[in-house]
Amino acid sequence: MKKFILLGLVLALVIVFFQFDLGHYLTLEFIKAQQQQIDQYYAANQALTLLAYFLLYILITGASLPGATVLTLAGGAVFGFLTGLILISFASTIGASLAFLVSRYLFRDAVQNRFGGSLSAINQGIENDGAFYLFALRLVPAFPFFVINLVMGLTTIRLRTFYWVSQLGMFAGTIVYVNAGTQLAQIDSAADILSGKIIASFLLLATLPFIGKRIVSLVKNRKALEGFSRPAEFDTNLVVIGAGSAGLVTAYIAAAVKARVTLIEKHKMGGDCLNFGCVPSKAIIRSAKFLSHISRSREFGISRADAEFDFAEVMERIQQVISKIEPHDSVERYTSLGVDVVKGEARVTSPWTVEVNGKTIRTPNIVIASGGRPLVPPIEGIDRVSYYTSDNLWEMREKPRKLVVLGGGPIGAELTQAFARLGIAVTQVEMLPRILLREDVEISQLVEQKFRDEGVNLLTAHTAKRFIKRDGMDLLIAEHENSEVEIEFDTLIVAVGRSANSSGLGLEEIGLKLNPNGTIVVNEFLQTSIPTIYACGDVVGPYQFTHVAAHQAWYTSVNSLFGIVKRFKDDYEVIPWATFTEPEIARVGLNET
Ligand SMILES: Cc1cc2nc3c(=O)[nH]c(=O)nc-3n(C[C@H](O)[C@H](O)[C@H](O)COP(=O)(O)OP(=O)(O)OC[C@H]3O[C@@H](n4cnc5c(N)ncnc54)[C@H](O)[C@@H]3O)c2cc1C
Repeated sequence: MKKFILLGLVLALVIVFFQFDLGHYLTLEFIKAQQQQIDQYYAANQALTLLAYFLLYILITGASLPGATVLTLAGGAVFGFLTGLILISFASTIGASLAFLVSRYLFRDAVQNRFGGSLSAINQGIENDGAFYLFALRLVPAFPFFVINLVMGLTTIRLRTFYWVSQLGMFAGTIVYVNAGTQLAQIDSAADILSGKIIASFLLLATLPFIGKRIVSLVKNRKALEGFSRPAEFDTNLVVIGAGSAGLVTAYIAAAVKARVTLIEKHKMGGDCLNFGCVPSKAIIRSAKFLSHISRSREFGISRADAEFDFAEVMERIQQVISKIEPHDSVERYTSLGVDVVKGEARVTSPWTVEVNGKTIRTPNIVIASGGRPLVPPIEGIDRVSYYTSDNLWEMREKPRKLVVLGGGPIGAELTQAFARLGIAVTQVEMLPRILLREDVEISQLVEQKFRDEGVNLLTAHTAKRFIKRDGMDLLIAEHENSEVEIEFDTLIVAVGRSANSSGLGLEEIGLKLNPNGTIVVNEFLQTSIPTIYACGDVVGPYQFTHVAAHQAWYTSVNSLFGIVKRFKDDYEVIPWATFTEPEIARVGLNET
C-alpha cells in the first residue's frame, strides 16, 4: 500500500509537471528573460530565495524531472559561483539520493527477485568496486544524472556510499555548470557549455578512480613481495607444481600460447583423477554395473544370465584402463607439446624461485596445483586396524568378506554400490542423517532405497567412535541414538573427505596464506596472497572435481601469464557435477537445499 501511495505521488508530480508545462519555467530563455526580476527578489529576500531554490532543486532531481541543468546555470547566475556551488552540490546530492531511495523502495526487490540470477555478477561487482564505478559514471556527463540515480537504486550499493561518492563525483561537473551560469548572458543553449575539450577532460577524470585502484593494487603487491629479491633473469615463464588435472591443463594452455613452462610432478603423471580417483572408480563401477545387469536379466527380457568372475581380475582390469589413458597424460606427450617436465618434489623458496632435485628454477610466475589427499579422521584405534583409502584401495586383490565403507559422500557412495555389486557384504556408515548431503533430500532417499534393495547395510546417523579388535575380529563401534552399535569387518575403506596438499611445499615459510582447512587462500583471479603465485584444483577448492580443476587452470594460466594486461575472474555460478551411483545423479547450479 505504502509503495502504491509513493508511486502515485511521484506519478502525480510528473503528470502535473507536464500537464501544466512547468518545464517552460526551466528553460534558458525564461530564466534569461526573468533574471532581472529574480535578482531583485533575491536581493530583497535572500534567505527565502536560497531556501526555495534549494527545495525546488531537491524536488526536481528527487522526482527525476527534467530541468536540473538549467536550474544549475540559474543558480550560478543568481547566487554567484561560491554560494551557487555549495548550494547546488548539496541539493543535487540530496535530490539524487531521494531518487535513488524511491527507485530502491519501489522496484529493487522486484528487480532482484526477478533477475537476481543474472544480476549476481553486477551485484558482486557493486560489492567489490561499486564506489569506483559510480564515481566514474558521475564524472562522465554522457551518463544522464537521473538514470544513474534510478539504476543505482536497483543495485546493492549502500546509501551512504552512494551519497558521498555522488557528491564527490558530481563536484567537477557542478563547478563547470555553476561557473557557466555566472556567464549566463553568453549562453544560448546548455550544449554550449560542454565543449569537446571539457568532455575529454571529464573522460580523463573518469579514468582516475581506475588508475587509483591499479596503484593501490601495485602498492599491495609490492608489500607482499617485500623482503624477497627478484632475480635479474628467469629460466622459464611459468613453473607449475603438480601434474594432476589442474597442473596438466595449466601447462597445456601455457605451452599452447608458446610460453616456456616447467611442469613438476613428484609421483604419477595424471595425478589423482587418472591413478586413484575418477578413472579407477569409474572402471570398477563399469564392471559392477555389468554384473548388476546380469543379475537383473529378467528386467531386460532375458530369462537367465550368469556371470563368473574373479575379484582379482576385476581389480586388475582397472590397471589396464588406467594404462590405456596414461599416454594422454604422459611425460612424452607433454614434452612433445613443448612442456619441460621434471620428475621430483618441488618446494617454493621465494615468490620467484622453485627448488626441485637440488636445482633452483627462476620464474616470474608459479602455479601451485598440488591437489589433495584422503582425510583420515583421528578415530580412536584407527591406527590399529589396517584400512584402505582411495590412494591404495586399487591394489586390493583379495575379495573382502565384510567391507565397511566409512563416509556417505559421492566417493563413499560410489564405492559402496560398486563393491556390493561385486558380491561383497558392504556396510556403509555415515554420521549424518542421510548420504549425499549436497543433493536434495529426495535424491538421497532414492539412492538410499536402491542401496538397501541391493543388500547394502546402510547405517546413517551412525558416528564412528572407535575401532577395536576382539577374538581376532575387527570391530567398528559406532554411536547411534545414544547407544553403541558394533559393526564387524575384515576390510575398511575410509572415504570421509579430502584435505589439501599445502604442507611441505615451503608455503608457510614464504608467508603464503592458507585457510583453516589447509586450502590455499586465493582471490577471484585465483591469485594467492603472494602476487606471483597462483593456485588451482583441489588444493584450492571449493569444488573438488576434475572439470573444476581444469576450469580453474584456464584462469591460472591466462592470469599468471597475461595478468599485467588483463585478468579474468573465476566464476562458479554454474558448476555441473555427477555422482555415478545407480541411479546416477547429475546436476548443475543451485539445488533446493
Ligand atoms: C575415488 C575418487 C573418485 C573421483 N571421481 C571423480 C569424478 O568422477 N569426477 C570428477 O570430476 N572428480 C572426481 N574425483 C576428484 C578428482 O580426482 C580431483 O578433483 C582431481 O584429481 C583434482 O585435480 P588436481 O590437479 O587438483 O589434483 P591431483 O590430481 O591430486 O594432482 C596433484 C598432483 O600434484 C602432485 N604434487 C603434490 N605436491 C607436489 C610437490 N611438492 N611437487 C611435485 N608434485 C606435487 C601430486 O603427486 C599429484 O600428482 C575423484 C576423486 C577420488 C579420490
